[in-house]
Amino acid sequence: MHIALIAHDKKKSTMITFVKENEHVLQEHTLYATGTTGLKIMEATNLQVHRFKSGPLGGDQEIGAYIANEKMDLVVFFRDPLTSQPHEPDVNALLRLCDVYEVPVATNKTSAAVFLHALKQDKGIFQR
Ligand code: PGA
Repeated sequence: MHIALIAHDKKKSTMITFVKENEHVLQEHTLYATGTTGLKIMEATNLQVHRFKSGPLGGDQEIGAYIANEKMDLVVFFRDPLTSQPHEPDVNALLRLCDVYEVPVATNKTSAAVFLHALKQDKGIFQR
């Protein structure tokens, strides 16, 4: 499975907690992330992450291109719902493509945990 991990600045600590709690599951998959999120994940864990550009510099759009090319199976995107983002159009475009291509997308830690639990139980659920 190809999994994208993205977190806005105020959600990065939540992402680190999430990846540490689920490192044993995530290490079995190919991981991608926006630039800063990926760097922080690799600093905090033993996970290897393919890093795209930082989100505001086009990283969300790079992940969107993977989705459009059917190369991404799951997106974990911890958005900050309380702060406006300069790259809001990119965020919306990424979420829109998840719906266009039926890619599961979790926007908070609880929903991401449910997805990973389902992934452990039955990898077939996520196959398109
Ligand atoms: P970052 O990008 O991981 O480079 O901070 C995330 C985002 O803001 O989309």
